[in-house]
Amino acid sequence: MANDTNKFQAIISHSKEYGFIFPSSEIYDGLSAVYDYGQWGSELKKNIKDHWWKSMTQLQENIVGIDAAIFMHPMTWKASGHVDNFSDPMIDNKDSKKRYRVDHLIEARIEELEKEGKKADADALQTEMDRLLKESDFPGLKKLIEDLKIKCSVGGTSNWTEVRQFNLMFSTQLGSVSEEASEIYLRPETAQGIFVNFLNVQKTGRMKIPFGIAQIGKAFRNEIVARQFIFRMREFEQMEMQFFIRPGTQKEWYEHWKQARMQWHLGLGIPEAKYRFHDHVKLAHYADAACDIEYEFPFGFKEVEGIHSRTDFDLKNHQEYSKKKMQYFDSEINQNYIPYVIETSIGLDRTVLMVLSEAYTEEDLSTPEKQDGRVVLKFPPKLAPVKLAILPLTKKDGLPEIAREIMEVCKSQFRCFYEEKDTIGRRYRRMDAIGTPFCITVDHQSKEDQTVTIRYRDSMAQERIAISEIASIVNKQLM
Ligand code: ATP
Repeated sequence: MANDTNKFQAIISHSKEYGFIFPSSEIYDGLSAVYDYGQWGSELKKNIKDHWWKSMTQLQENIVGIDAAIFMHPMTWKASGHVDNFSDPMIDNKDSKKRYRVDHLIEARIEELEKEGKKADADALQTEMDRLLKESDFPGLKKLIEDLKIKCSVGGTSNWTEVRQFNLMFSTQLGSVSEEASEIYLRPETAQGIFVNFLNVQKTGRMKIPFGIAQIGKAFRNEIVARQFIFRMREFEQMEMQFFIRPGTQKEWYEHWKQARMQWHLGLGIPEAKYRFHDHVKLAHYADAACDIEYEFPFGFKEVEGIHSRTDFDLKNHQEYSKKKMQYFDSEINQNYIPYVIETSIGLDRTVLMVLSEAYTEEDLSTPEKQDGRVVLKFPPKLAPVKLAILPLTKKDGLPEIAREIMEVCKSQFRCFYEEKDTIGRRYRRMDAIGTPFCITVDHQSKEDQTVTIRYRDSMAQERIAISEIASIVNKQLM
């Protein structure tokens, strides 16, 4: 098995080779930190999206979904605090001109210390960094970087600028004539589309607190250190849910959603040991409690989802800036108030990377006679891009006709793939490589007794089943 750095590289290559993820506009050498999803990647992404949407709306009686526009009134971002606060402390190396996020530079050193087994030193450094970030002590952060003798990975020198804040929002012009144009932003999070629609949804949906509004959509951030494939992109998708509650109940609901979201993750079949909670020390400008759900990627434990207790910060500010009341009348206690909010916010692309990392398996199948191996993506069947491959053993003797009939019956129920080229072994391996959980082979016996061979991706076991059973066997695994 490849080591973890190699494994990550192998996942990137595999994703490209098998039509999951391509660099954006690759014929022009790509665009940094922007990626396109190919034929199988887009299916995988959509399946994850549908699964999240179903668990967060259909299966919750008090959560509804919306689909707000990417462009929003510029005042939104003033009210939300993004114009003033949505920035990261950055530092530039004067020699190489390369820019770094300060926390990333120090975190890399913490990881080194952990690898060297110096756990106490790593913890102490983490605490010191958290303190300096919390106090926005920029000279202190610079001194820490210098004291640690951290070097630029490109130029190899420690010739650093001052630490500065850098806003992450992209802006563009609205309006066709330049005099009329006004600056607007590409939304850096989907949450604000939910907040500005809070009253619309509450009133038209006759929603009673506690209730939630969910949304899936694109967000844009001008990430300075954009790296690690689709982990950190400049254009990405978020799946967010804002849960509106009575003030004073935020602690219980925060705990509730922490546990509920972790259960969702475990429901993907990923072992508990691959997850951990990380509580925030430096809280964002809107939060009174916050944590991340981290997954152990091949490059270490990193955030996949954030759970934030956002207080009434957003609604209160929108009320102030828009001069529109954001209040809710709670008939149970006969009181008007601005609701508090618990947010669950998960990156769709990071979830794709998590599911890919978990699924990617290299297996050595060598025998004393022959070297052999396979790469198999062990996706949960409900997330797999293709559920069933239908493979006639040969291109003649009426086998394709039977296979086509099976295709006709199954293709309206789940994604199928038909292929008659190449040896059956090669076709199985190609299906393993895109994570197809079931293959059926139509052979000469099928003509006699209406049975086929079903081959299971993970165990590679094969058994004979009746053609009439195929759809129900597959459907059972997709629940
Ligand atoms: P990070 O600390 O990694 O920059 P964040 O704490 O700023 O992330 P949030 O604002 O909490 O992230 O956004 C919620 C989720 O959106 C994250 O948990 C992550 O899954 C996803 N996300 C955020 N930024 C990006 C990005 N640049 N590319 C891909 N996904 C992202």
